[in-house]
Amino acid sequence: MNKPFLAGSNAEFLTSWCETRKFPKFRVKQLCNWLYTQVEINPDAMLNLPGNMRDALKEDFYAPGSSVDEIVSSTDGVEKLLLKLHDGECIEMVIIPADDRLTFCLSTQVGCPVGCYFCASGKNGFTRNLRAGEIIEEFIFGVKRAGFPDNLVFMGIGEGLLNFEELADALNILTSPDGFGMSPRRITVSTSGFVPGMQKFAQLKREFNLAVSLHAVTDEIRAKLIPSNVRYSIAEILKAADLCRDANNRQYTIEYTMISGINDDLDSARKLADIALNHHAKINLIPYNATDGMFRRPERSVIEAFETEIKNAGARVTRRVERGTKESAACGQLRISRSKK
Ligand code: SAH
Ligand code: SF4
Repeated sequence: MNKPFLAGSNAEFLTSWCETRKFPKFRVKQLCNWLYTQVEINPDAMLNLPGNMRDALKEDFYAPGSSVDEIVSSTDGVEKLLLKLHDGECIEMVIIPADDRLTFCLSTQVGCPVGCYFCASGKNGFTRNLRAGEIIEEFIFGVKRAGFPDNLVFMGIGEGLLNFEELADALNILTSPDGFGMSPRRITVSTSGFVPGMQKFAQLKREFNLAVSLHAVTDEIRAKLIPSNVRYSIAEILKAADLCRDANNRQYTIEYTMISGINDDLDSARKLADIALNHHAKINLIPYNATDGMFRRPERSVIEAFETEIKNAGARVTRRVERGTKESAACGQLRISRSKK
């Protein structure tokens, strides 16, 4: 059934719903308070609303559509929530606490149409886009578990820019003063380089952060990692990323998943540093997490030498800290391991 999600409904939508259902306008404010201040999406808990309104909400909306099916905790405090959607599909959201900040990693699709060879998210293909409300529900389940996050990264399952309209609606609710009121500077959207989506992202003209999963310094190497169906050239991707940088007024991050024998040579490190310097971008090195037997993670010494080479060239580089359980460190792995059972 194609019902709206209460969690994805903004004040405007709720106002027109109240009008249609003949509930007074002041109820909208109460409802928004429940949703965006109390972070409560179950109408049964909204005790200051009349019973017939709570029933109407449950009838007309998914409230909520998803539920927490399983929580996988690791010793370093990272928690992965496996969420079951209203149609039985599963996605993941990850809670990543650090000393000084709390980060949530959210999914945007069920599966992924890009299907990068090294990634678990696209392994079983693509099932469907998430609705904005389902993305907001991920956020809400995270808040209920760990409190409000300092940072949000769209680095879970899926290519968010291939689900642009729903992602943009979710970003709106997250940042709107009538919604969760988060600063766009604390939100990062990661893309595998879907150029038309990046162009739309630039048109939002908001200070969201962009992370571009480049993974290679030549189109030939990139073709070994990403299938051709949704692959653009590095030149086109960087052009679109520059457009976002100028429109959003934010430096972007170049993500580089390091895979042994494919993209971990020092010549690539120097070229990557050049790209970052030319585009005023930062580099984030992600040591590959094994998902199957096809690729290997480089030795620690190789990763360190690669990083040093970039630093010596004068570019800004960070390395993703290894967090999470072994079984499910890479996004999409938990969902895949459950679907095999
Ligand atoms: N689809 C988007 C966002 C989700 S993936 C994108 O590709 O950017 C988020 C990041 O995780 C990407 O940089 C991706 O390359 C990386 N990633 C995926 N699988 C990985 C794995 N097995 N090991 C290390 N990084 C991985
Ligand atoms: Fe999709 Fe990103 Fe995984 Fe590639 S890395 S398959 S784009 S989720």
